[in-house]
Amino acid sequence: RYVKGAGDSTLVADPGALIQLELADKILNLCRANSLWPMTFGLACCAIEMMCSGMARFDISRYGAEVFRPSPRQSDLMIVAGTVNRKMAPAVVTLYEQMPAPRYVIALGNCAISGGPFAVEANYDVVLGVDQLIPVDIYVPGCPPRPEALIEGIFQLQEKITGVRHPFPQNRMPKGA
Ligand code: SF4
Repeated sequence: RYVKGAGDSTLVADPGALIQLELADKILNLCRANSLWPMTFGLACCAIEMMCSGMARFDISRYGAEVFRPSPRQSDLMIVAGTVNRKMAPAVVTLYEQMPAPRYVIALGNCAISGGPFAVEANYDVVLGVDQLIPVDIYVPGCPPRPEALIEGIFQLQEKITGVRHPFPQNRMPKGA
C-alpha cells in the first residue's frame, strides 16, 4: 500500500501497512528512474535547450528519458522550461494534476525557478517561480541552462528517486560541452 510523500510528487510505502515490500519498492523506483517520460511542453526560450537535449548531440535517451509524450496522462515528468505567465498558470496546474502519480517536476531555467529577468517590481504578469503553483523536485538554473545542465538535473532526479547516483561518468558528455 502506498501513500503520497512530501510535496505530493512521490509515493512512499505506507508505514501503517501490514506487509512492507521494501525490495519491490526499490525495483519499482529503479524502473521509474530509468524510464522517465517527460511531457512535450515548453513555455519559452529554455524549451529550445530542452529540445536540443533530446537530439543526437546530447541524446538524453542514453539515460532513459527520451520518450517525450504529448499527453500528461502518459507522462511522469514535467520539465517547466520557460517563463510562467499568470495567464498560463492555471493550464500548468491542470496539466500537473492530470499526470499520474508518482510524478516529478524539473524547473528548467531562471524564469521557471524565480521569474528570471522578469522578476522586477513593475512586472505584473509573470509567476515568480513555478513552485508557487506545483511542487518542484529539481531546480536547474541558467538563462538558459545548457543541455548538459538538464542532463545533470535528470541525474539528480534519478538519485532522488532511487537514492543512487547515475553510474555514468560526467566525461560521457559530448566533446566540447
Ligand atoms: Fe528565456 Fe532566460 Fe527565461 Fe529561459 S530563463 S525562458 S532563456 S529568459
